[in-house]
Amino acid sequence: LSRFSKVPKGPEDAILGVTVAYNNDTNPNKINLGVGAYRDDLGLPFVLSAVREAEYRILDRKPHMEYLPVAGSAMFIDKAIRLAYGTNAFVDSGCVAAVQTLSGTGACRMAGVLMDRFLDGGSRDSKPLVLLPNPSWANHRPIFLDAGCDVDSYAYYDPATKSLDFDGCIKSLSDAPAGSVVLLHACAHNPTGVDPSLEQWREISAVLKAKGHLPLFDMAYQGFTSGDMDTDAASLRLFVEDGHRIVLAQSFSKNFGLYGQRVGCLSVLTDSEEETSAINSQLKIIARPMYSNPPIAGVRLVEEILGDAELEKSWRSEMRDMALRIISMRATLKNNLSELGSVHNWDHIMNQHGMFCFSGLTKEQVDDLRERHSVYLTANGRISMAGVTSKNAQYLAEAVHDVTK
Ligand code: PMP
Repeated sequence: LSRFSKVPKGPEDAILGVTVAYNNDTNPNKINLGVGAYRDDLGLPFVLSAVREAEYRILDRKPHMEYLPVAGSAMFIDKAIRLAYGTNAFVDSGCVAAVQTLSGTGACRMAGVLMDRFLDGGSRDSKPLVLLPNPSWANHRPIFLDAGCDVDSYAYYDPATKSLDFDGCIKSLSDAPAGSVVLLHACAHNPTGVDPSLEQWREISAVLKAKGHLPLFDMAYQGFTSGDMDTDAASLRLFVEDGHRIVLAQSFSKNFGLYGQRVGCLSVLTDSEEETSAINSQLKIIARPMYSNPPIAGVRLVEEILGDAELEKSWRSEMRDMALRIISMRATLKNNLSELGSVHNWDHIMNQHGMFCFSGLTKEQVDDLRERHSVYLTANGRISMAGVTSKNAQYLAEAVHDVTK
């Protein structure tokens, strides 16, 4: 008899559930706007040619398949942190502790465990409190809870303006218990597409400083707001310049298109090489019993691309093309809606950034889109702009117009 016969069935993941429903739909015009993965203008998954070329070059060398060290590939980690921090005194003076992680999810989880064990010397009376923007990526909450942290939220999105609730944000960060951990989406906020301006980032940085909050950056979409890797890292670089010791979770899923390869990095800015070495030792102690060592295939691709000027140039240009295609689909969708005579204000489609548009469609309208038009999005009205193509943009606009008339 099974020892697990009493296991209760858990709920489906809301985002992954959208794709399951889409796959079961037989309408030839169906559109999947649920999934947070880039699609090309034919609506197909996209492998960057720089990644393909890197793969061939690596295969040609008949690489070994040995274990990586517990902390992952040192070369990859060095390239990853330079991509994020740029030329930087911390990087050059050994004041960055870092490990290769199971992509952005793994980086967040490692950050959570590290904070649970060691934040403020581990001497706190209670668990670390992680404040998430309201709303945030749905996985953030379970990640930090499972890692042993407490989770709360701070004001971020204003449904009335479909943009940043800046005053509310500053107020809730000021009202939060001093010394909290504040999770910040470095750019291309998921799910809202709403990013603070540089001026606003500056003020957020000042509040965190005044309150002794720890900035924890989640950077899953570097490149997707502007098309440029450095421009999109401006938020966290500003915090570093302001003297914050930030924690950074990096994902290479979207900007290298390496989703299933699980390529990521967690880094922590420190005050000294001794501190770096102590944190690195603890990150390895966290990683070892969980998965022993991280996967090798994906980081090899990143190393190959960032280690070769020609491949790097080609990758940067394809990265920019992905961002620009999404921006052009924003414009197309908005224009199509106004040409259809929609009386609503759709400016936010253009004003929001990155892979997502927080459309403002209600749960009922989302249901209606699915049932009458075979257009699939998450219940919160988030549209993955990467799923919009030159071919389906008109059908999509007609469907959205129809449910919002
Ligand atoms: N953070 C955010 C905000 C995300 O949207 C995602 C991907 N949906 C991730 C982290 C992590 O993704 P991955 O584990 O594939 O890198």
